[in-house]
Amino acid sequence: MHPQIKKRMSFSSFGLAPNLLQALTEMNYERPYPIQEIAIPAILTGKDVLGIAPTGSGKTASYVLPILTQLSKAEKAKNRHIQSLILVPTRELAIQVEEVFKTFAHTFSEPLKVKAVYGGVSINPQMKAMMGVSILIATPGRLIELAESNAVHLTLVKSVVLDEADKLLNLGFQEEMQQIIKLLPKKRQNLLFSATLNDQVSEINQILLHDPIVLKIENEEDSVDLIQQTAFRVSDARKGPLLRYLIRERKMKQVLIFTSSTFKADQVVDKLRKNNIDAQAIHSKKSQDARNKVLRNFKAGHLKVLVATDLISRGIDIEFLPFVINYELPRSPKDYVHRIGRTGRAESTGEALTFVTPEDEHHFKIIQKKMGKQVPFEETDELNLNGY
Ligand code: AMP
Repeated sequence: MHPQIKKRMSFSSFGLAPNLLQALTEMNYERPYPIQEIAIPAILTGKDVLGIAPTGSGKTASYVLPILTQLSKAEKAKNRHIQSLILVPTRELAIQVEEVFKTFAHTFSEPLKVKAVYGGVSINPQMKAMMGVSILIATPGRLIELAESNAVHLTLVKSVVLDEADKLLNLGFQEEMQQIIKLLPKKRQNLLFSATLNDQVSEINQILLHDPIVLKIENEEDSVDLIQQTAFRVSDARKGPLLRYLIRERKMKQVLIFTSSTFKADQVVDKLRKNNIDAQAIHSKKSQDARNKVLRNFKAGHLKVLVATDLISRGIDIEFLPFVINYELPRSPKDYVHRIGRTGRAESTGEALTFVTPEDEHHFKIIQKKMGKQVPFEETDELNLNGY
């Protein structure tokens, strides 16, 4: 384990490309986050890295900046030979990582070509766009399809990133991962980022990484302290009115609401709209285009209420999200922490409001116990919800 670094350094001490330093200043990245202090110099010296860090810790920039610096000094990508491969579990994360790479890549006089590929959309345009790509962000299935049809070659890859490795492995991608690893050259740099260190991550660490720098940034469980949590005791029948009451009375301008099913998500959206509250749902039954569009609108602040299910939630990075509402409890305590971790991230604070019906009481006790934190309750029986 790397020793704790006490004093925060500045980005200029790492040897990153000068244009990146300027871009960081323009983006108001004043100082590196702890993960960046350790990962950036390690990656620049060519070491393998195992980073245990939750979303929101700044892990994306911790690999994007050194990879761009390295590749800007290397020979350009040839034909369909990519130089850096970023594997991600979801399309949403692929798009987000692509955005971060592009933001910084554009600042080079000869920008490196960056492309994200994922399933659920037509493969042909992706095949055509692969020419000259240096940095490819991909979900495993689509990458294999592209590699098998010779649209992309992996034999000259210099660095591989597994982002959200725990999820990549959990979602049953193991076989695909093995297949991909076989297509990579033996000599390469491996970077693995994961929110948790579970058995599968330890296993892949042993297969994939060589003498890695291991770093662990505080768990989401620890950063839960940043989040102001409240639970509302409410009957099922009064959840809808309570939701509308809270959105209006708390003057919420941007709120992410969680339900446990796509059916419920659509139903909540429907009800909000009927009550003139602008809302959209994002879940696996929506087309990819629809999901992208909704997420863009929400991030830009054009859409006030986004209703989501757990599958979609992880990896969605929204800066300064002030409110998360658990309309329904998630089954797993881990998901609860991931959900509320959408707020109060990366040095800003937020509020998480949770609806608890009499049937939920027992399960919510378990969630609190696992989280190691008691959530204060507000009673709503006496609350006048007429007109909501
Ligand atoms: P990530 O964990 O990569 O999803 O990053 C979380 C958020 O922190 C993103 O919105 C980044 O733009 C932001 N961020 C990352 N590093 C820094 C930094 N050093 N200073 C300020 N913001 C940052």
